[in-house]
Amino acid sequence: MSKSLQAIRGMNDILPEQTPAWRYLETTFATLLDGYGYKEIRLPILEFTELFARGIGEGTDVVDKEMYTFLDRNGESLTLRPEGTAGCVRAVLEHGLTGGGQVQKLWYTGPMFRYEKPQKGRYRQFHQIGVEVFNLPGPDIDAELIIMTARLWRQLGIDDAVTLQLNSLGSSEARAAYRDALVDYLKQHFDQLDEDSQRRLTTNPLRILDSKNAQTQALLTDAPTLSDYLDEESRAHFEGLKARLEAAGIEYTINPKLVRGLDYYGRTVFEWVTDKLGAQGTVCAGGRYDGLITQFGGKPTPGVGFAMGVERLVLMLETLNKIPAELSRPMDIYLCTFGEAAELAGLALAEQLRTALPSLRLAVNAGSGSFKSQFKKADKSGAWFALILGEDELAQRQVGLKPLRNDSAQEMVDWDQLSARLHDSLQQQTSAHSESE
Ligand code: ATP
Ligand code: MG
Repeated sequence: MSKSLQAIRGMNDILPEQTPAWRYLETTFATLLDGYGYKEIRLPILEFTELFARGIGEGTDVVDKEMYTFLDRNGESLTLRPEGTAGCVRAVLEHGLTGGGQVQKLWYTGPMFRYEKPQKGRYRQFHQIGVEVFNLPGPDIDAELIIMTARLWRQLGIDDAVTLQLNSLGSSEARAAYRDALVDYLKQHFDQLDEDSQRRLTTNPLRILDSKNAQTQALLTDAPTLSDYLDEESRAHFEGLKARLEAAGIEYTINPKLVRGLDYYGRTVFEWVTDKLGAQGTVCAGGRYDGLITQFGGKPTPGVGFAMGVERLVLMLETLNKIPAELSRPMDIYLCTFGEAAELAGLALAEQLRTALPSLRLAVNAGSGSFKSQFKKADKSGAWFALILGEDELAQRQVGLKPLRNDSAQEMVDWDQLSARLHDSLQQQTSAHSESE
């Protein structure tokens, strides 16, 4: 293949052997969300650049360094969405879904795009499953979101491998006061800050708390802490959240340096982290963003949400060996036909079987071929049984039923008894199979 025909760096193909795990994750999540009364929303991948500049905020890494932005043929600046919240807020405002204080509990999934340095767990096209809730201001809903994700970890069998980190960012006034105190402190140690943090001191100083640089982290030990600046209402909100998590039996760690990368958060922020994935340890992150909707020109509307990284969760399921084996269930039946008349009759027969047994996995041989070659393909398909339809069988309106996974002999079955017979045989096979596991 010529060198130019390759996928873009950091943008992955998800190959057939990987898609079952993805589907598993997506359907587990969708079923869970249904059960809590959340509704799916589907949003465009492209938005006007201004949406993200205004929503996520200039001075954030995402907006300053990571967006895929280009002019379309009409000269409009468009951006491939780097996250889902801004687009979701735009959509609810555009369609009046939050008007009159209406509560919305929404979820979405799909690809996001960020120009980052690709590495394990960090890609340029990646996928998120996100949830956003509007018009519920209290800590009860913050708690519900966390309780819901905790249930997901249990359902996926990875609850032992993730821990919850929690912080409160307070009101915007509290954050502003804290920001001033932090900047004052760090200015005195300007020369000891890493280069990124020096730049952030003027653009987005709270992000310095998040720095991976060891010397900067050491400096931060004696820095003022955000919790000392919390306003009374935010403090009460945070206490309310903690009490609910405790009542639900959910353990957490308070991480006073948890600030989140995007500008719009206030009060509750949280992350679920794991030590199973190396440096890219956050699998789910979210928080409250009561100020975001007014930033878009809407009426004051409380909002809270989270997003989880699908690639990281799939990696975790793989690493911890938690992908259920039955996901890659092979075919049940492989139909071999010999001669044109049998091939035509076989097509009709296969459709009848599919109607009679809707969950049947039935492969019909394509490309004709000798007895030997069709049997080889039947075997490779993983099917429990091969069905054999040649001229003789056709004349007698029968098929040969040949077990492929044991030594039992082939039998002849009448067409009108075939679906009932397959139903019973497959049930026997699968129950014998699950007992032997
Ligand atoms: P990080 O600190 O890892 O860069 P973030 O704070 O930028 O994460 P968010 O914007 O909160 O991440 O996105 C929510 C989740 O989406 C993350 O916790 C992570 O699981 C996932 N995620 C974010 N960026 C990427 C990426 N480039 N590749 C894969 N997953 C990602
Ligand atoms: Mg990031």
